[in-house]
Amino acid sequence: MEKICVAVRVRPPVSSEPSNGTYWKVEDNRISLHKVHGTPISALSYAFDHVFDESCTNARVYELLTKDIIHAAVEGFNGTAFAYGQTSSGKTFTMNGSETDPGIIHRAVKDIFAKIQMISDREFLIRVSYMEIYNEEINDLFAVENQKLQIHESLERGIFVAGLREEIVSNAEQVLELIDSGEVNRHFGETNMNVRSSRSHTIFRMVIESKAKDTDSVGDHLSTDAIRVAVLNLVDLAGSERIAKTGAGGVRLKEGKHINKSLMVLGNVINKLSDGAKQRGHIPYRDSKLTRILQPALGGNAKTSIICTLAPEEVHIEETKGTLQFASRAKRITNCVQVNEILTDAALLKRQKLEIEELRKKLQGSHAEVLEQVILKLRNDLLKYELEREKLQMELEEERKSHRERDQCIQEQQMKIVDLSNPLTSSDFNPNSGQGQDSERQSLKEECNDSNIICHGDAFRTPCFKAAPKAFVVKRSDYSMLPDYSPLPDTFSNVADEDTWLKMNKGYIADLDSLQLTPARKVQSFPSSDATPPSLINIPTTHGCEDFEQTSLWLKTYSSKNHKQEVQHLKRQLLIATEERNELERKHAEQILLNHQLMDEISKIQQEAKLTQEIPKRLGESVECCKDIYEDVLSIIQSFVSDEESSTSKLVSSTSEIGITLFKTLETHFSMAMDDHSSFTGNNSLIQEQCKVLYEKLNSTITSLVLSQTPTVENEQLRPKRCSCENKGCTQDEETACWEEELSNELNTIKERYDSLEKELDFNNQLLVVSKERYDSLETEFQLLKEDRDHLHQMVSESSRKLALVADQKENVLKDLNTEVQRRKNLEEEIKQFSAAFASRQRSVVSFQNDVKSKCEKLRAQYLVSVPKSLGC
Ligand code: ADP
Ligand code: MG
Repeated sequence: MEKICVAVRVRPPVSSEPSNGTYWKVEDNRISLHKVHGTPISALSYAFDHVFDESCTNARVYELLTKDIIHAAVEGFNGTAFAYGQTSSGKTFTMNGSETDPGIIHRAVKDIFAKIQMISDREFLIRVSYMEIYNEEINDLFAVENQKLQIHESLERGIFVAGLREEIVSNAEQVLELIDSGEVNRHFGETNMNVRSSRSHTIFRMVIESKAKDTDSVGDHLSTDAIRVAVLNLVDLAGSERIAKTGAGGVRLKEGKHINKSLMVLGNVINKLSDGAKQRGHIPYRDSKLTRILQPALGGNAKTSIICTLAPEEVHIEETKGTLQFASRAKRITNCVQVNEILTDAALLKRQKLEIEELRKKLQGSHAEVLEQVILKLRNDLLKYELEREKLQMELEEERKSHRERDQCIQEQQMKIVDLSNPLTSSDFNPNSGQGQDSERQSLKEECNDSNIICHGDAFRTPCFKAAPKAFVVKRSDYSMLPDYSPLPDTFSNVADEDTWLKMNKGYIADLDSLQLTPARKVQSFPSSDATPPSLINIPTTHGCEDFEQTSLWLKTYSSKNHKQEVQHLKRQLLIATEERNELERKHAEQILLNHQLMDEISKIQQEAKLTQEIPKRLGESVECCKDIYEDVLSIIQSFVSDEESSTSKLVSSTSEIGITLFKTLETHFSMAMDDHSSFTGNNSLIQEQCKVLYEKLNSTITSLVLSQTPTVENEQLRPKRCSCENKGCTQDEETACWEEELSNELNTIKERYDSLEKELDFNNQLLVVSKERYDSLETEFQLLKEDRDHLHQMVSESSRKLALVADQKENVLKDLNTEVQRRKNLEEEIKQFSAAFASRQRSVVSFQNDVKSKCEKLRAQYLVSVPKSLGC
């Protein structure tokens, strides 16, 4: 156990005006208020570890107050030094100093590096961070983008600011440069830097890790693996002056309130800690960010020194008194200081060990300075990577936490619903059975809480700091185990009231209403939901008669509301199902109409196809007719030719032969088309060829006939028969000419007839081709329509199926609705019965009470009557 070291420092007066009434006098380690003529004012004399007068330098302050703490930090002890006092009393001067007289931070940094240079048997790793608490928000002064950082706590790392940039440093100059850059960031966006600096707290933090250097190759033994980790905080607090004096308003007032809160909680913490271990009770560290971060320094595992700076001017006398009272309280605090030796991966030195060793191996032979630089860079890169990962992890955990809270909320709601859904059956009209419910509810809650505890454990676990059993973390004080919230109002005495604060910090007006103290028990707020009746949150839990009546009333309201909602929900479902059914029915009707239209078209096409199929037949018939006519014509011609051997007879017979062949071909062609219209290709080339051959044959016969001019005997015999000229006076030549002419005429007629037949054939062929094309296209169309029809058939059947399904669903919904309505009716009936039973029971209780009362009255009357008798005896 070690007391906090407290010193007071009086800064030089700003003006040399002599005071009219009082002045502060410093003697040795005592400061007291004196009247102008020299008499001390009693009760205003304070003694501290050190009291520095205005002539004291920062070098001396460092030497006497902080040097020990800094040296102890190098050896593995946590250390904290902070400056407390009103604005312009010299806090920043003490911590940061001036060009000619560097402050505590500067000297501490230099001293640490000088000290570790002297320790040859240990390997050190130092990292620094710089943060500012402004308006109760933590901002990173090394990285402007890191704003509003959160404080976390883990078993291994203790309390830490998640996402705070840490830089691994190897010399004092590097640290001082970083501090300068941090100061620039602190003033970022500020028009008046002094305003902000007096209203924010800055914490410069150094984490000093060290481990014994391996002396032999078997350096892996556990004892050499222990790493000392010391955290050193150098804090420049915001001014503790009162708002009224600075005339703050608006933003300034807001800032003031935050400072007020932060410093007030610090005051409370110091106050509580100074009460001594027995009376301490709850220490409200968690009520402000400042006290939470400084928790180990205040009554925990840290060597701590406080320097309280004073403004000597008479005008500041009240603030000075307040500061001195604060210092007096702080003087009584004892800390429990231990070296922090860590065996787990919580130490950066250990986490980075492997990587560094590997790098060292790779860079063997390199110049020592280069090697160290490369190592430093690698260390910093690794640390940045870790911090980034940690930040992400924290964000993830936050997300998970909120998720869990939501889940828990839902769980609790479900639990309440379960409780409520069978209140009548489980209680069985017995109010005592409510206890069972309560215990069930309690066990469920406990389950939830248990899971929550586990979850919270998870929340603090970061992957980069591997989880390890508690046993591995040695010599860490248990400040992290303290309760993390303020107690309920019954222990409100732990929190300073305005009077206490005024007493402690004279004249500082605290706006107590604006302070929000951490609640002892989290009150679970439920998300507002339509399904949750407003009364759900205030369900009566006791079982008195009135409360029971309230319960039944509440149940009625709740069940009726609940059922109304269910019925509404079912109605909505029914409405949707009906709409769906109507839509399907409409579609079904449309499809049927379309189907009818398609059927009509198909029958028309079929008729056309039938007609097309008949074309070859009709053509065949006309060809037959033509053939008959042709045969008639030929038989008539042949009747003219008596001599069968004559050329005329030959011509006629060959013509008849040609004609018949032609007609036969045509007939075969058409019958083929009729028999198998699908395989009929409409190829007329054969017929055309035949016609050509026959035409040539006929021509040659006719030519040969015409050329045979010489009249033969048969010609002579034929002449009288053949010559149409009845004129007896005609010469033979004239008769021959006449005969020739007649013959030629006949031939011409035959030729014409043949030509016309040929044309007719051509035309018929063309007609056939067109019909065939039309037939093909109709056939394709028919196939398509057939497919369409099939598809439609399929769709119709599908629709019918869906319709049936919807109808089923509707039926079910209706059934459900009916069941629900019935259930609701039953429930209402049960409630009525219950109410009646309850009322009768109540009546019987009342009559019983009356009976008892009257019996009591009687007994009392008897007793009263009997006493005097007995007395008389
Ligand atoms: P605070 O941080 O408490 O608001 P500062 O440290 O800024 O106050 O001090 C206000 C002024 O007083 C500064 O100009 C500072 O240089 C001067 N000052 C404070 N303490 C001393 C001291 N011990 N010696 C000389 N000057 C001082
Ligand atoms: Mg300052």
